[in-house]
Amino acid sequence: MRKKHGEVWERCLKVIKDNIPFQSFKTWFEPIVPVSLEEDVLTIQVPSQFFYEWLEEHYIGLLKKTIKKELGTGGRLEYSVIMDSSYQDSKPYSANYPSNDKRATRNNPVSMPIDLTKSGERDILNPFIIPGLKKIKVESQLVETYSFDNFIEGDCNRLARSAGWAIAENPGKTAFNPLLIYSSVGLGKTHLAHAIGLQVKSNFPEKTVLYVKTDQFINKYIDSVRNNNQNDFIHFYQMIDVLIMDDIQFVAGKEKTQDVFFHIFNHLHQNNRQIVLTSDKPPVELKGMEPRLLSRFKWGLAADLQVPDLETRIAILQKKLYKDGIEMPYEVVEYLAYSITTNIREMEGALISILAQSTLNKKSITLELAKQMIDKFVKNSAREISIDYIQKVVCDYFSLPLEAINSKTRKREIVQARQLAMFFSKKHTKSSLATIGLHCGNKDHATVLHACRTVNNLVETDKRFRIYVEEIDKKLKL
Ligand code: ADP
Ligand code: MG
Repeated sequence: MRKKHGEVWERCLKVIKDNIPFQSFKTWFEPIVPVSLEEDVLTIQVPSQFFYEWLEEHYIGLLKKTIKKELGTGGRLEYSVIMDSSYQDSKPYSANYPSNDKRATRNNPVSMPIDLTKSGERDILNPFIIPGLKKIKVESQLVETYSFDNFIEGDCNRLARSAGWAIAENPGKTAFNPLLIYSSVGLGKTHLAHAIGLQVKSNFPEKTVLYVKTDQFINKYIDSVRNNNQNDFIHFYQMIDVLIMDDIQFVAGKEKTQDVFFHIFNHLHQNNRQIVLTSDKPPVELKGMEPRLLSRFKWGLAADLQVPDLETRIAILQKKLYKDGIEMPYEVVEYLAYSITTNIREMEGALISILAQSTLNKKSITLELAKQMIDKFVKNSAREISIDYIQKVVCDYFSLPLEAINSKTRKREIVQARQLAMFFSKKHTKSSLATIGLHCGNKDHATVLHACRTVNNLVETDKRFRIYVEEIDKKLKL
């Protein structure tokens, strides 16, 4: 009976899998596609020339044995190398097993998967020259203040932070390789990425850590092409133990950079070096990214950073003040944390402005001053919703008379309506906490803060209450 190429390759894979580390198997064997089996020749498709060379260099013995076992002593293996669409001549490689003459087959002329036209540059993708390279000292480009110490932990960042911490304890040896940290702007990606690098350096001073912004990487690559020293460029990166690339989304649409990065990535990964990436989007939303690169990103862990909750925001501000030795009334800190909710960088910006204002004008830092400054940082909502309007909507919703809110009564449903009115006033108006309190039963700002907290807690714990809040919110926006 004729053997099918798929089945034969499957059986080969079983043997191979038992003989090499799982990660290597994933890297170098899973991407292979069996193409055909004619006579005793099994043809497999590999993603690139680099891939082919790597298999030949590292797994030739294992491949030989396996092929022999499956196809007998006359068994041969042929490679078909996928070229980029710009390279049409994807004629298959032929490597004969058993054969002693593998040099001859490797020297077949073949297009490179990247456009490196100058002579000698084939070596660039040849990872085997590295051992001769002298170890040079690499400037890590890490910022000391972006440490784990200064990174406040909260529900919003717990997964990413613990994965980062685990990596720093054991770079390249956890399942988090690569670690991809993603979030929208100003939520701590860069900070956490630096923290991981700093911590690795502190745990393993001998390790080479490099933090690089992706646009820097791109520019350096372009320079290297211009100066005809891509060799050095690639070798430099292949030497790194922990490579941190910030804002990887910038390689979108840049095919050649992606290609080069792909090879660097493979080399590092194969050698159990650690890769940390950040991105402003989850991997699935990264457009203009080569699928083979994207699929690499999914090998490890993609962890997002979310908007921090109020407590975490307050803690972040306090940490910053403490670090800089600045004192500020707690109510101002709380006000800041309340007002700026979606971007930590903006919140810190507001804090700095308040400090600057108070220093320049020799004013003490008060809630009033904070309010004046905050307006500049909070985006104007499209339409102003007034406190009065909010009170009306809330009362209508619960069929309560409008006066109830301003009355002194402590009946449960009225207290709740009042708290909701305060909560929505905080959410939808730019009024100060004191103003809101004044209009909702003549209360002080602390009562308003308490009301907002209570509502937030109930939203999280009480399903029915959450529905109230969502429905009122909808009515307010009509
Ligand atoms: P991103 O890279 O996501 O745009 P950054 O890392 O630049 O965000 O963070 C913006 C600012 O917020 C930085 O000054 C950073 O120190 C601060 N920051 C973010 N998250 C935290 C946190 N969990 N603890 C302390 N500071 C934080
Ligand atoms: Mg950043």
